[in-house]
Amino acid sequence: MTYDTNNIFAKILRKEIPCIKVYEDEHTLAFMDIMPQAEGHTLVIPKEAAITIHDLSDDSAANLIIKVKLVAAAVKKGLNADGITLFQLNGEQAGQTVPHIHFHILPGSYLTAKAHAKINADTDSLEAIAEKIRKGF
Ligand code: AMP
Repeated sequence: MTYDTNNIFAKILRKEIPCIKVYEDEHTLAFMDIMPQAEGHTLVIPKEAAITIHDLSDDSAANLIIKVKLVAAAVKKGLNADGITLFQLNGEQAGQTVPHIHFHILPGSYLTAKAHAKINADTDSLEAIAEKIRKGF
C-alpha cells in the first residue's frame, strides 16, 4: 500500500488542519485525540511518512517509543492518572482508521474505555485537558 499524503495526520503535520498539540520536536508530534476514548486520550505520531509499524524505519521506531514514554509520563503526571494504557493499531483488519502510524496513550483501562473513534469532544474541554498535560512535562 502506498502512503496517502492526504491522510488527516499528514495534513496535521503540514499544519493544513489544526490539532491540540501537547508536544513537538524534530521527529515527533503529540496531540489530543478528537474522539477520546477517555479523558486525556493523546496520540503520538512520527513525522516520518509511514502507514504502519512495518513501514517505519528503525531509527524512527526507536525515537517514537522514547517519545511515547515521555508523553505518557506527562499525561500520567498532568492528569494525576493511576494507570496508563498504550495501544497501536496496524492495518484496517486491526481497526486502524488513520493510515499514518501512531501510538494511543489512554489514561485508565481500555476495558472500560469508550468506543474507538466515534464521539467528538468539544475543543474547549480538550484544550483544558491538554493544558494540564503540558504542565506534566
Ligand atoms: P486508529 O483507528 O488507530 O488509526 O486511530 C486514529 C485515531 O485518530 C482515532 O482515535 C480518532 O479518534 C483520531 N482522530 C481522527 N481524526 C483526528 C483529528 N483530526 N485530530 C485528532 N484525532 C483524530
